[in-house]
Amino acid sequence: MKVITWGSRGSLPASLNANVIRSKIARALEAAQGRDLSSTAAMDKFIDSYLPFAVKGTYGTNTTCVEIRTGQAEREYLVIDCGSGLRDFGAYLMKTEQIPAHVHILVTHPHWDHLHGFPFFVPAYIPGNRIDIYAYHEDIEQAFRKQQSDPFFPVSMDVMQADITFHQLNENDPFELNGCRIQSMQQHPGISYGYRLSRDGKVVVFSSDSEHKSDAHDDKYPFIEFFSDADLLIFDAQYTLTDSLYAKEDWGHSSNIMGVELAMRAGVKHLCLFHSEPTASDDELDQILESTKRYAVLHDSSYELDVSHAYDGMELDI
Ligand SMILES: [Zn+2]
Ligand SMILES: [Zn+2]
Repeated sequence: MKVITWGSRGSLPASLNANVIRSKIARALEAAQGRDLSSTAAMDKFIDSYLPFAVKGTYGTNTTCVEIRTGQAEREYLVIDCGSGLRDFGAYLMKTEQIPAHVHILVTHPHWDHLHGFPFFVPAYIPGNRIDIYAYHEDIEQAFRKQQSDPFFPVSMDVMQADITFHQLNENDPFELNGCRIQSMQQHPGISYGYRLSRDGKVVVFSSDSEHKSDAHDDKYPFIEFFSDADLLIFDAQYTLTDSLYAKEDWGHSSNIMGVELAMRAGVKHLCLFHSEPTASDDELDQILESTKRYAVLHDSSYELDVSHAYDGMELDI
């Protein structure tokens, strides 16, 4: 499996403005003083070796959309959620002429940041494409239609020419899509669902928009089994530990610290921090990643947990 993050921001897209880009360039030029930049290869080496991610790149702007690529069938795709990252996934399909396409979309919950990319998903407007949308929420089709109705949006879903079908999922019933066996779990505070996808002995768990409270310390906390032995756990780490315990309790999100603790208890190999705070700068997200790696070593130095922070365009081979 390959996991591609088309959007990883939480709550709201987060733009980079001209001043932020300028300050990245200034820091790169400063770091370049006295370095060998005499060839393209030397410049690439300088960028890769000497610039932090916050200077050479960006964690990105798009809200949730994650593709699970299996190669099971030609022109068949599986994505989780329709945040603004779905627009870029659609642009990729159009650019690579992977149409007519059959796209399966698993929806975690109908909050705006998980639906608002759909009106901009170009393949949905093209006849011949097939789009199957799966969710647990009984009113999910109504939610999609409502966001594309007056006065919220000028183009109704009826204008979309692809064959679009909504599927109601049943709790506790595992199912198969695009070569993946999929299990799910309702997450706190009760509106969002996590997905566990297995294929050829590999497991990816997507668990965003979830909050873990004091019952997370129970031996039989159900998420331990849901995350168990995952090769990759994509985990909601929007808040700091302090925020998640006090100021933003019951806001439906979790922290990097909780991610490390649950991942280690569940035997996870790779923890990917996800659903980043839209007000967080690239430097702040770099710091969160570094402090999470340090915390993982402090928590259990014998446990080799890979830790990454999702960014738009990230690709992980599982
Ligand atoms: Zn969200
Ligand atoms: Zn949400």
